[in-house]
Amino acid sequence: MEKYELLPEQLLYEGTLAKSNFFEPDPISEEQILRTHTSEYWDKLRNGSLSRKEERATGFPFHESLVWRGRHIANGTIQCAYHAMNDGVALNIAGGTHHAYSDRGEGFCIFNDFAIAANELLHHGDVNQLLIVDLDVHQGNGTAKIFESDSRVFTFSMHCEHNYPLQKEKSDLDIGLPDGTSDDEYLSILKATLPKLIYQVKPDLIFYLSGVDVIETDKLGRLALTKEGCKQRDEFVFTECLRYQIPVAVSMGGGYSHKISDIVEAHANTYRTAKEIFF
Ligand SMILES: [Zn+2]
Repeated sequence: MEKYELLPEQLLYEGTLAKSNFFEPDPISEEQILRTHTSEYWDKLRNGSLSRKEERATGFPFHESLVWRGRHIANGTIQCAYHAMNDGVALNIAGGTHHAYSDRGEGFCIFNDFAIAANELLHHGDVNQLLIVDLDVHQGNGTAKIFESDSRVFTFSMHCEHNYPLQKEKSDLDIGLPDGTSDDEYLSILKATLPKLIYQVKPDLIFYLSGVDVIETDKLGRLALTKEGCKQRDEFVFTECLRYQIPVAVSMGGGYSHKISDIVEAHANTYRTAKEIFF
C-alpha cells in the first residue's frame, strides 16, 4: 500500500509531474457499480456481510474503508479514460484491479476498475469498441470473465502461465509466458502481437494495465524482465497508441519487489515514458 503514497511524491519531487497534473476522483455511484457488479455482491460490500470464505478470497480483512477506497479508484479510471480522450494519455496512481469478478472480489481486488470504466463509457455511447491490454504478470481473470460474451470489449492478457490465478479464465487473447521470460523474449512477443491486435480490434480507447510485477526482483512475478525492459514495454505500448491515435488510460496494477524503491522506480518509469511520448 505504501507505493501509492510514494509514487506521486517521487513524480512531484523529480518534476515529472506538477500538482496541477493531478485530479482527485469522487467515489463512483451505486448506479455505476451496478453496471458491472451484481446487486447481491454490492449489498454484501455495503453491509459488510461477506462470508468468511469470500472475505479470505479478497486477500484483505474486510473494512468499509476498502470499499470507499475502491469506489474512488474506479472513478479515477473512468476519469482517466475521459482525460485520455482529450490528452492522449492519462494514468491512475492505483487501479488495475483485474481479479475482481462481477459477483466477488479476489486477489486484493474488490471492484474491477477497467470493467466499471468500460461499462460506463459504453453506457454513455462515448465509445463503441474497447481493447484491454493487460500486461500485469497475473492473468486478468475477472476482466476476462466479465467480458467473456461482450464483443465490444476485447480482452488481451499476457502473463506468466504458472502463476496466480491457477484456474485461468478465457480472455479474447491470452499469452501465457514461461517462468524466467527475459526482456528480449517478452518484447519480441509483444511487438509481434500488439500492432496486429490494434489493427484488428480498432478500439476507440485502450485500457492498459501496466503492472510492474513482471520485473526480475518481484516476489510474486516469476518473470525476469529488467526495469529497463519493463520501461521499453511501456514505451512500445504508448508509441503504438500514439501511432494509431488511440487514447490510452493506464492503471498501475501489481508490483511486489522486495525493495519498495524498485517498485516505485518501475511505476515512475511508466509516467516518465508517457510524458516523453505524449507531451
Ligand atoms: Zn499482478
